[in-house]
Amino acid sequence: LPLSPRGETPVRALTIAGTDSGGGAGIQADSRTMAMCGVHACVAVAAVTVQNSVGVRGFHEIPAETVADQVRCVVEDIGVSAAKTGMLASTQIIEAVAQVCSEVGIGRDMEVPLVVDPVCASMHGDPLLHSDALDAIRGVLIPLATVVTPNLDEVRLITSIEVVDDASARRAAEALHALGTQWVIVKGGHLRSSEKSTDLLFDGDRFLEFSTPRIETGNDHGGGDTLAAAIASALAHGRSVPEAVEFAKEWITKCLEWSYDLGHGHGPVNPLW
Ligand code: PLP
Repeated sequence: LPLSPRGETPVRALTIAGTDSGGGAGIQADSRTMAMCGVHACVAVAAVTVQNSVGVRGFHEIPAETVADQVRCVVEDIGVSAAKTGMLASTQIIEAVAQVCSEVGIGRDMEVPLVVDPVCASMHGDPLLHSDALDAIRGVLIPLATVVTPNLDEVRLITSIEVVDDASARRAAEALHALGTQWVIVKGGHLRSSEKSTDLLFDGDRFLEFSTPRIETGNDHGGGDTLAAAIASALAHGRSVPEAVEFAKEWITKCLEWSYDLGHGHGPVNPLW
């Protein structure tokens, strides 16, 4: 993606997500990815997590009105050409984000495309979303999405479909699309039975497949956030959704190849490759 010439204002994108005190996932992954993709990252913090490479010890939610006000404030002055949601933690925050996005023109069929990464838990299984907030993810957030990017655990929580092969991945994509998103990607990266990592993109009409070699590494912390942030970056540069996904898939593969050890647990993917 093009970097802007010196002194020229780059395109802007907004991430609405949680922080990671370990610096690998969440808003830190989003801002680093966007910066490397030639995008100025604006940030609306929804939650502060207490975590390191071993796991998430807890999180603190930002008041829903403050989350919405950050979005309003950024859009009013700076303006963004794509947005992304990550960890939103609670029903109240999800509802406030959906409300403010609709109000300022962020979301499907509006001026600014919205990538929804429906973050529910860390890869260690630590919760990042109150379990009663799944209804709000289904009912108000996914219907607003230009593209939604669940991993297989999130697919199961949202649709009750266990993805084990291509046929179940297609059924899951249809079920997610029926919730109202314009596009859905079912990410196959966690399907360990396959030697390739294949993501399935669906718009209610056609299925597109994106396959990359599986990178064997335990250092994949922040991988989902990085993929979604790369999609948002490409959309901010004016790419179509299929073009953005193709770009992001190559991007995350590089970030996995360049991932590194950190602390005693899982190291992060590396957007600075
Ligand atoms: N922390 C935050 C704030 C996140 O948004 C995410 C993922 O979306 C994670 C942690 C978990 O990342 P991982 O599942 O890669 O460990």
